[in-house]
Amino acid sequence: MISVDDYRERITALLGTAPATVLPLADAAGLVLAEDVPARVSLPPFDNSAMDGYAVRAADVTTSPVTLPVADDIPAGRVDVGTLEPGTAHRIMTGAPLPPGADAVVMVEDTDGGTETVTITAEAREGAHIRRLGEDVVAGSLALAAGTVLGHSHLGLAAAVGLAEVRVHRPLRVLVASTGTELVDAPAPLRHGQIYESNSVMLAAAIRELGCEVEVVRSVVDDVEEFRKVIEPRLAGADLLVTSGGVSAGAYEVVKDALTGQGVEFRKVAMQPGGPQGNGRWHGVPVVTLPGNPVSVLVSFEAFLRPALLAALGHTDVSRRRVRARLTEAMSSPPGRRQYRRGVFTLSEREVTGVVGPHGGPGSHLLAAFTQANCLIVLPEDVSSAAVGDEVDVLLL
Ligand code: AMP
Ligand code: MG
Repeated sequence: MISVDDYRERITALLGTAPATVLPLADAAGLVLAEDVPARVSLPPFDNSAMDGYAVRAADVTTSPVTLPVADDIPAGRVDVGTLEPGTAHRIMTGAPLPPGADAVVMVEDTDGGTETVTITAEAREGAHIRRLGEDVVAGSLALAAGTVLGHSHLGLAAAVGLAEVRVHRPLRVLVASTGTELVDAPAPLRHGQIYESNSVMLAAAIRELGCEVEVVRSVVDDVEEFRKVIEPRLAGADLLVTSGGVSAGAYEVVKDALTGQGVEFRKVAMQPGGPQGNGRWHGVPVVTLPGNPVSVLVSFEAFLRPALLAALGHTDVSRRRVRARLTEAMSSPPGRRQYRRGVFTLSEREVTGVVGPHGGPGSHLLAAFTQANCLIVLPEDVSSAAVGDEVDVLLL
């Protein structure tokens, strides 16, 4: 048996890091920036008005009321703004460039709103309502650092400092295949002995959420020839094949039978659920084969597939947040294996730590409980039982 940590390292090494590519900003959401991005312009790029109002010289508006001639009108977008002469005002809109000579903006609410002359009823303070060049970002400075996971705010900033494209780690193209002669794709009717296929739907969503592109092949029957015939032509262009089912100790283990001796090795990982696993390369394409039970799939995803995919996508923070919590229910675990149990974690009101209890039975076919869990309780290899009140590790999902 290989340990969970060693297996995770192996899968991470197998996937490597996706090469960088240049994408339009609109296609880069959720991906990881592959290089530092310097600002092409300052933000704001010029001194401008923070208010709809009047640009003035503060020295002209020291008493109230004051009436000044309105010498110009400056909407946002004007690019030919002339100097503000002493003793005059320019009507100015939010975001419009401040005329040279002006050192304050009076907001329209403090005036009569005039267009020929304006009567100002409040004192103007030097610098008031002016957004200064470079007060947010200075041209040439670092706007976004390599390694940033591009959320909407980062993409907004990239656009604001003049970028149309960014260099990011390319999304991986993942081929997801589920196997099992018993599987039926909804909404076709079920016959006794058949079940609806769910692993590929779940895996595809989980992998897509990380920023990968996913192609799905559902419900390949347990027949080696058929498996090869369906999967082989789709390998070209894939960065990873993930299968579910057909890898354990039964008589019809299609994935194991098809890929043994083809560059994929099958072994047990010291974890529960999700022990039987396989990994390697088939026709040069990295392959990760997961067992078929839905909870085993989810736990395998959390234990090594998710961190390895995140690393391949350029993420440096690949781990779920880990907290300690006190057990509300006793638990047992097979010695020598790391047990992952679905749980519900609650932050206690008066204490720094939370409490956690297992949710749903340990059976790896019990999928419904997983949807109500918000964490995985991790009982390490050297722990075979934990009592109520014991502190345990919890991975927040
Ligand atoms: P296997 O690893 O192929 O022996 O499958 C283990 C268990 O998981 C069996 O009860 C299968 O019916 C079930 N299973 C396998 N693949 C899927 C799937 N794609 N969707 C739902 N259940 C599955
Ligand atoms: Mg099967």
